[in-house]
Amino acid sequence: MVRPKTDQEIELMAKSGAITAYALRRVLDAIAANISLLELDALAESCILEKGGAPSFKTVDDYSYTTCINVNDGIVHGLPNKYRLKEGDLVSIDLGTVYKGYHSDVSYTVEVGTSKEAAFLNTGLTALEAGISKLRVGKRLGDVGNAIQTIVENAGYTVSEDLVGHGIGTEVHEPPYVPGYGTPNTGLKLKAGMVFAIEVIYQKGEPDIVILDDNWTIATKDGSLSGLFEQTVVVTKHGPKILTPFI
Ligand code: MG
Repeated sequence: MVRPKTDQEIELMAKSGAITAYALRRVLDAIAANISLLELDALAESCILEKGGAPSFKTVDDYSYTTCINVNDGIVHGLPNKYRLKEGDLVSIDLGTVYKGYHSDVSYTVEVGTSKEAAFLNTGLTALEAGISKLRVGKRLGDVGNAIQTIVENAGYTVSEDLVGHGIGTEVHEPPYVPGYGTPNTGLKLKAGMVFAIEVIYQKGEPDIVILDDNWTIATKDGSLSGLFEQTVVVTKHGPKILTPFI
């Protein structure tokens, strides 16, 4: 049972989302060759605290960072470490805020100092927009997943089979799962007030995954590049409303 949020809850989630969007914007602006993942993580934390929030991901058991940062073949759950970004790296920043008990979650992928992967990254962003556009009363989650999958696969890439978006509210990860694939007109029927973290998790090669030695970072098995785009979105009577607007 997925409970739609009340207007008051959505207001708090919008405030949480604004902090998340601010932190992401600041981190994206700081990305450059030579900055370390730990420095980016520290910046994200200070931005969230500055606005009166707390890092969502620190509420996850055994996780002690503000962000997950995934480089090149890293897909999700990348642990910030001492690695310093290099020109040409593909880097995704994933972060969230909890504000007065309500979470928001966002991700974005950029290339460090080059634009050789522009077509790949544009595909992810376009797929995210297409998925979000289906978040309308009466549509179903299969419509969202299908919109994402169609754009990613038409561009010659693959969507993750194991890693998916999710509901969000008083927990950073709530039911239901929101896959980036699906069949139109199947799955949960959408109601006003439902809030989802819609995620486009995709790669250039095969969707098989491996967990790295740090026991957190999930990477592509074939070493192919991966991208991650995510927004927290509420279904309203008038259509989708992004709660983490950073662009
Ligand atoms: Mg998420």
